[in-house]
Amino acid sequence: MAREEAKVSDVEQKEMAAHRIEQLRQLLEEHAKRYYEEDNPTVTDDVWDGWMRELIQLESEYPEFLSPASPSQRVGGLPSSGFAKVQHRIPMLSLANAYSHEEMRDFHRRVSEVVGDGVRYVCELKIDGLAISLRYENGQLVQGATRGDGETGEDITSNIRTIRNVPLVLAQPLTIEVRGEAYMPKSAFLRLNEAREQHGEALFANPRNAAAGSLRQLNPEVAARRGLGILVYQVAYVEGRPLESHSQALDLAKELGLPAHGVRANGLTLEGVLEFIEQWQEERHGLPYATDGMVVKVDSLAMQQALGFTAKSPRWAIAYKYAAEVAETTLEEIVLNIGRTGVVTPTAVFQPVSLAGTTVSRASLHNEDIVRERDIRVGDRIVVQKAGDIIPEVVRSLPEYRTGNEQVFAMPEGCPECGQRLHRMPEESAWRCINPNCPAVLRESVIHFASRDAMDIEGLGESWVAALIQSGRVHSIPDIYRLSKESLLQLERMGEKSADNLLAAIERSKSAGLERLLFGIGIRHVGEKAARVLAQSFGTMERLQSASYEDLVALKDVGPKMAESILDYLHDEAMQRMVGQLTELGVAMEAKQRIDPPEDGPFLGKTVVLTGQLESFDRTRAAEIVTMLGGKVTGSVSTKTDIVIAGENAGQKLEKAQELVRSGKKSDLQILDEAAFCAWIEPYLK
Ligand code: NAD
Repeated sequence: MAREEAKVSDVEQKEMAAHRIEQLRQLLEEHAKRYYEEDNPTVTDDVWDGWMRELIQLESEYPEFLSPASPSQRVGGLPSSGFAKVQHRIPMLSLANAYSHEEMRDFHRRVSEVVGDGVRYVCELKIDGLAISLRYENGQLVQGATRGDGETGEDITSNIRTIRNVPLVLAQPLTIEVRGEAYMPKSAFLRLNEAREQHGEALFANPRNAAAGSLRQLNPEVAARRGLGILVYQVAYVEGRPLESHSQALDLAKELGLPAHGVRANGLTLEGVLEFIEQWQEERHGLPYATDGMVVKVDSLAMQQALGFTAKSPRWAIAYKYAAEVAETTLEEIVLNIGRTGVVTPTAVFQPVSLAGTTVSRASLHNEDIVRERDIRVGDRIVVQKAGDIIPEVVRSLPEYRTGNEQVFAMPEGCPECGQRLHRMPEESAWRCINPNCPAVLRESVIHFASRDAMDIEGLGESWVAALIQSGRVHSIPDIYRLSKESLLQLERMGEKSADNLLAAIERSKSAGLERLLFGIGIRHVGEKAARVLAQSFGTMERLQSASYEDLVALKDVGPKMAESILDYLHDEAMQRMVGQLTELGVAMEAKQRIDPPEDGPFLGKTVVLTGQLESFDRTRAAEIVTMLGGKVTGSVSTKTDIVIAGENAGQKLEKAQELVRSGKKSDLQILDEAAFCAWIEPYLK
């Protein structure tokens, strides 16, 4: 009887395991799609890793359920259909993970069983970005690709070319394929998210998703502005240079002018590896990029070959993952910050704690709903961490420590700066101060107006703006252009030279152009890109002011919500007064460089490839012009290509285009040199 019961429960257990495996696979797939394909994860990496570990555990207990289709056996996500696909000559795999010294010892045991005791390791910090492959032919960069699903990636050559530390030409004319991590520096990530928050756009969860989001979008200009970098961590293939070890391969990369991974150590035994891991646990927070582990690799390439691969990762490498750092502290206060659109954001102020290399004492709580959902009360013990190693956040409260004196947070009825009633718009989680004269809204609006991406008034930062408003010198944006040297000199700590510089920067900003002005005056939902599209499509403020709803939504980048917001803004009396005053004060109301949206023209509907170096433009600008003239810029030449624009030193792509014409496979393909390209676009540039 007892035996029978045991049998039944075995069967039951197996059924339960099958059910859980299915559930985990679905969860992992759904979230991998959000993470890899949409660059927008909704659960933390810890949660995802926990599911993955549980799945691997169950699959090893019940190998009968193993399947090559399981997420435990696959790499990454599907390549996006917006890019040409790249078949990787050598698969781009993931890495197995270790979370403890014990698991590192297991790894070493597995390695030694195959290659013996003399194994030496290389350690490299694991950069939190995305894997990229760079292919050079005879020293020329011919292709940049993402990892995709490991077999097939996306051709993102035009975006890769905008990354400053990627050489377009190597120091020696070698044919080589290297792999590395593309990353967004912490400072650039913080700036980007700040700007996105101000424009009401969704924030990137961490620098890795931000880097991926920047490289996996079709406009190279966006990637160019995001300040990305690459560090090379592998030579996948090289012609004519036999290599014996991984460290030798990285030395070669460096010799060729490639940005080889900087933080590494060679020739380590297991004990050396464990020490190096400990040494960098804290030190890594001082690096300009986010890291989440240490990659440990067998150095000898012959040993690597003997060890081989699993379906998902090499057996000769492992990623030791550092645990996410969390700290406990006490929430002292929830203060309210007011943005330039009047949004009131609750911010947690807590007793300072040391976290991932810095001391933190504040974290945004985003909105009232989050405070309520996480049941965060003033006086609570709270758990804080840094999301993506950078942004402090309050993870949860610890109700078990409550004494009864904690206070539940409630949004006040009035604005904390001007006292006027706050409003919550339907379908929004944010409360807003809608008083246009609220000093906080004015302060934030002026800071934004003067910022680098808007009117770029150097020297007019937060503290001067606050001083100008407090001292009654600035009551509105146009007042900036009414400032005199005498009045500036009366401000505390303002010297002759600073006053002259500031006035010169203000004067210069008058000719910033309609693109920057439209962004700077802060129309809701209008970010930098939309401002540029509006300026370039309408040319002048006057024409934009007389645009109808239909005119606006006819533009590719303007949706109904943005169109309504633009019309509301332009027809608002106070805004019209402001624009009138700015015009009188000499601020230019014309676009800097305008391209008429064409009704026809040589690029309309054509597939265009840019190759080689152009003298009069950078490639990004040339691609932008082609796009504005209705062309589609792609990365590689095929029979679908209509036009190839070939600058200096154009290599393979030009040859391929010439071959397609010569062989008759695509006899109408047009090849333009720079002079011809300039002549074609000349009539459209104003
Ligand atoms: P991984 O990021 O853990 O490790 C492999 C990658 O490390 C390589 O592809 C490479 O890009 C990178 N790398 C950085 N420095 C390196 C170096 N010096 N040498 C070699 N490689 C280096 O693995 P993965 O497969 O890219 O991603 C899996 C991870 O992604 C998971 O562990 C999880 O944390 C995260 N993820 C999260 C979600 C989510 O919803 N939050 C979803 C899917 C995946």
